[in-house]
Amino acid sequence: MPELPEVEFARRSLVKWTDGRRIVRTEADPKARTFRNSRVPDVEALTGRLVRAERRGKFLMLTFDDGRGAVAHLGMTGKFVKRSPGTETKWSRARFVLDSGEVIHFQDPRLFGLIEPVPATELTTHESVAKLGVDPLVDGLTVEQLREALAGSKQELKVALMDQERIAGLGNIHAAEALFRAKVHPSRKPDTLSPAELTALTKAIHEGISFALEVEDGEEIEYVEEPGAKNPFLVYGRAGEPCSRCRTPIEQMPQGGRTTFFCPKCQKAPEKARAAPTKRPAPKARSKTPAARGRKRA
Ligand SMILES: [Zn+2]
Repeated sequence: MPELPEVEFARRSLVKWTDGRRIVRTEADPKARTFRNSRVPDVEALTGRLVRAERRGKFLMLTFDDGRGAVAHLGMTGKFVKRSPGTETKWSRARFVLDSGEVIHFQDPRLFGLIEPVPATELTTHESVAKLGVDPLVDGLTVEQLREALAGSKQELKVALMDQERIAGLGNIHAAEALFRAKVHPSRKPDTLSPAELTALTKAIHEGISFALEVEDGEEIEYVEEPGAKNPFLVYGRAGEPCSRCRTPIEQMPQGGRTTFFCPKCQKAPEKARAAPTKRPAPKARSKTPAARGRKRA
């Protein structure tokens, strides 16, 4: 599923493909739910020069030279691909036809993607964009910003990292990768991180993003979930395989409705998750809830 690096790849592709070009025609598949409440004619009016393509988190903000704009989201399977004129392209939900005749397709098999026309002046105040948290690439993300972004969270760390209103752009893959790189267990609570761990995690987030941008560099992106795709990631999708650092088999567990991958040795579980049932008398509700939940997830 596209996350920050993959959406950044889409942004860079759009900039590259439209450089010095005009979009002479835009077509939108009227049956695709890609356009949600937007009327198809509004999507088809997105023509001319693409003067700016920006990204925040997993959202793209496109500005055209006549003041029109669009907010786009790749959903679960969306991507932009460029094809020669007349090339049949599967799952093409929208097409930007360039003055060279080449066509940029918005290809999206599972239809969770979005293209929503919005006046260019309203792109950053669009409700989906305005509520996004700090973006590691656009805003930088320092240790202090990460600490602030996680402050007050009672979520488990990986879930908090995926919370777009805290940090924009990390999803299931890149949150797991960052935690593995930083050697921090995904079930830790954000307020238990030491300054050294926060520093390591900040560095790991940046390294994971840079790594993905590097390996995904090319003419066209391939998502790890696609049939036959290579898995370039350190821990994501590698349950049962030996950890690249310590050779312990990578484990997986459900967390926040998604599957989390981690090394049980490099990423030490928090006390609560590891604690065996204790004989020490404790208030019933407290001993039951967090401990039981922790055990089940670990
Ligand atoms: Zn390990």
